[in-house]
Amino acid sequence: AERKRRAAAVIEDVERSLATPTALLRSIADAMVTEMERGLRGDIHAQLKMLISYVDNLPTGDEHGLFYALDLGGTNFRVLRVQLGGREKRVVKQQYEEVSIPPHLMVGTSMELFDFIAAALAKFVDTEGEDFHLPEGRQRELGFTFSFPVNQTSISSGTLIKWTKGFSINGAVGEDVVGELSRAMERQGLDMKVTALVNDTVGTLAGGRYMDNDVVAAVILGTGTNAAYVEHANAIPKWTGLLPKSGNMVINTEWGSFKSNKLPLSEYDKAMDFESLNPGEQIYEKMISGMYLGEIVRRILLKLAHDASLFGDVVPSKLEQPFVLRTPDMSAMHHDSSHDLKILGAKLKDIVGVADTSLEVRYITRHICDLVAERGARLAAAGIYSILKKIGRDKVPSNGSKMPRTVIALDGGLYEHYKKFSSCVETTLTDLLGDEASSSVVAKLANDGSGIGAALLAASHSQYA
Ligand code: ADP
Ligand code: MG
Repeated sequence: AERKRRAAAVIEDVERSLATPTALLRSIADAMVTEMERGLRGDIHAQLKMLISYVDNLPTGDEHGLFYALDLGGTNFRVLRVQLGGREKRVVKQQYEEVSIPPHLMVGTSMELFDFIAAALAKFVDTEGEDFHLPEGRQRELGFTFSFPVNQTSISSGTLIKWTKGFSINGAVGEDVVGELSRAMERQGLDMKVTALVNDTVGTLAGGRYMDNDVVAAVILGTGTNAAYVEHANAIPKWTGLLPKSGNMVINTEWGSFKSNKLPLSEYDKAMDFESLNPGEQIYEKMISGMYLGEIVRRILLKLAHDASLFGDVVPSKLEQPFVLRTPDMSAMHHDSSHDLKILGAKLKDIVGVADTSLEVRYITRHICDLVAERGARLAAAGIYSILKKIGRDKVPSNGSKMPRTVIALDGGLYEHYKKFSSCVETTLTDLLGDEASSSVVAKLANDGSGIGAALLAASHSQYA
């Protein structure tokens, strides 16, 4: 009974510290809009970098030719080639390959990482078949999706601001990532030109727009989280160049670095942040994204093991190991709807090393997964809502005109595979928008839109265009 009382006390405390009532989400969204505006002004203390992408035109559908894309930004990287057939034929053929990045390369040297990538790309190019056509005498061209914050200096160049998501490579910060990739391709004897350097959010936005003309923003919920959207060029005070003809500029918000005293930051978040590779940074990302959700759950279960002997008299040593509980496992436990939570029990045995957990322990574990996932999903919805507010698509126009159909392209393994998470994002967004406005807003899965988006941007910025 004493154990039960202690467990209940911990759980109550967790519920309180992770709570995200709708009113709080609204004030978080307001704080985010304020930070977006600061970022667009170029305030050096702004939390959201609001990076200028140099993409002032999104794909139209007219793009044609053979293009490659490379996507680096998480645990996997992906190479892709696509034959674009213009307005009539659209995507004639596409092929891709996924390669996982050996963990030691994520914390090694930049040359080793880029050599590994270029070698995989060269191998992929060697398998190009008859269905793909490169006009005589032309160089192959590539769109490079690089999902880390970059200070772009043009559509095809930019310097790395910092690593995130578990990458930590010395000497790469401040370097031109296209230069590094190009030199690695040369070392491989691969003749290819990088004509577009894009963040994955920008790639997803481009790919999303190609599929649906009403896409105005893209959100990634994967290993990390980030968003990009179409801004009016004249709403970007820090842009000092000529105004683009389109009047628009795609902005990469880098919203993962948002922090605010309004965010429900628990003791578990603080401890995880403190022990992370980037303490004090990416606070919003650490509450939302796939790299961290399972780890937050682990920390709460560990507390329950310590304070309330959740897994018996001794604290299971496996549970002490950071990141043993991965978000896909959390998702599997959370989705277990069997009457005896069999799957969850098996996962606990596997991961924590405790066989024969009681039904009650399993229910508690599932409840913790639910609390952590729900907080993440609701915070993500608040972020989406803040972008809609920023561009004035959060409510029906007051002049009586109809609200335009507004589509958000979403991608990332977390959103794609964690159903309870993605449905909570959607219901929360509907709740924040209200009935009337939400009927014009659509959240759409843009599965791997960033690869095709990067290829499309490579096409529209081709040296031959
Ligand atoms: P990245 O963000 O690294 O480019 P993805 O978009 O594929 O790659 O997202 C991968 C992330 O998605 C993983 O790190 C994991 O956190 C999350 N994820 C993948 N599968 C699942 C799943 N079944 N349930 C929950 N999260 C998942
Ligand atoms: Mg990705």
